[in-house]
Amino acid sequence: MMLLVRCPKCKNTMKYHTPDNILAGKRKKCVYCPSSFAVRPNLIKEI
Ligand SMILES: [Zn+2]
Repeated sequence: MMLLVRCPKCKNTMKYHTPDNILAGKRKKCVYCPSSFAVRPNLIKEI
């Protein structure tokens, strides 16, 4: 599953790939700023 997510800190969007459909507890490291964030509340859409 490929998702579009947005960093809550810098508001940049990026792709996030997950091999399964489980998003609970998943975090992504932002590629634009040195923070990481929870995927689920920052999910924009599936791509
Ligand atoms: Zn960021």
